[in-house]
Amino acid sequence: MKREKLFELIGQEKIYSKLTTFIKRGMVSTGYLFAGPQGSGKISMALNLAAALNCEDQQEYTACGVCDSCKKIKKINHPNLQLIFATVRGKNPKDDDPLTGLSDDEFEEYQDIIGNLKEDPYSSLKMQGAKQILISNIRKIKKDLIYSKIEFGWRIIIINLAEQLGIEAFNSILKILEEPPPQTVFVLTTEKLSIIPSTIKSRCQVIKFNSVPEEEIIEYLNGKDIDASAKNRIARLSNGNIRKVKELMTRDFSEEDDKILNFWRLMMGSKIGDKSTTMIDLTKLVSEYSKLAKTDYNEFVNKLQLILFWLRDAKIIATDGSDEFVVNNYLLKELTKFANYYQKFSYEKIIDLVEETIKYSSKNVYVPALIGRLFFTIREELQKAK
Ligand SMILES: [Zn+2]
Repeated sequence: MKREKLFELIGQEKIYSKLTTFIKRGMVSTGYLFAGPQGSGKISMALNLAAALNCEDQQEYTACGVCDSCKKIKKINHPNLQLIFATVRGKNPKDDDPLTGLSDDEFEEYQDIIGNLKEDPYSSLKMQGAKQILISNIRKIKKDLIYSKIEFGWRIIIINLAEQLGIEAFNSILKILEEPPPQTVFVLTTEKLSIIPSTIKSRCQVIKFNSVPEEEIIEYLNGKDIDASAKNRIARLSNGNIRKVKELMTRDFSEEDDKILNFWRLMMGSKIGDKSTTMIDLTKLVSEYSKLAKTDYNEFVNKLQLILFWLRDAKIIATDGSDEFVVNNYLLKELTKFANYYQKFSYEKIIDLVEETIKYSSKNVYVPALIGRLFFTIREELQKAK
């Protein structure tokens, strides 16, 4: 029987079997660099690797889940396992221990992050206000490598988002990797492979993670108690990011549907509730979106993507007369009405414009002007297409 993984891992089977094959053949590297987008499973993979390397029952080169070692790894409380991520600098910190000097609140936050990770290996390892992995972390590793001996298994040091290491810390790790200590594996993760120094890349085996494909997300959601109509939508909106999938699973979509519909009502100049919409409402909406771009850029892009999905869906209905490939099938009635009413609407032009807006909004372009152009053009085109 195939063993269950100790930590939930969605998709990425190829990488998992590659890593267990390395263990089986005794070809474990000193350094791995797991590179891929957020929510692709890098930390989960690293934890599963730690479990497999330290399991007391080595017959299958994967974790048994029941031995003492597996239990400790599962609790992220195994002497061989170290997990490093950006933390804030406490007051009077020790040179070689980043956790001393943290305030009670800060320490509690740190503990919560680890606690959440035990439950969900896709949870965020983000401490508020922390931007860098402190050099004291690396000094602590060095000290441990010298003074503490491992009794069994492999020491595994996971460094989350290595792009947050400073130059001094990179150099320090590089020195360790150049003279690798025995039975020790470093797993560095990154979302920005291009900014990792080539000296580090050349010392590590780089393993690239892709976003999780939609089919795998749907398969995962099939095992959960979720409304069938929400599944496609979560899969589509998540962009292959499992952290996002989990966040979307808790959302109230009916509220969002209202928002989407109200957006289009405003564009069409029709009523919202019993209130007529005016150009002033449109101007307000422009400033709302512009503000959002500043405070929560991801959510801003999400909103623009929802506009894009709507347009693509309406275009499918308008051109094929079929709704087979429609993403927003929960809004089918409204979409069909829209497609029928605005038969001459220039879908291509507006779809291009939304895509352009998303692209340029990340490039220091003045966002209110971009959004204003987009919304006013949509409105104008709708008027023309009646
Ligand atoms: Zn075990």
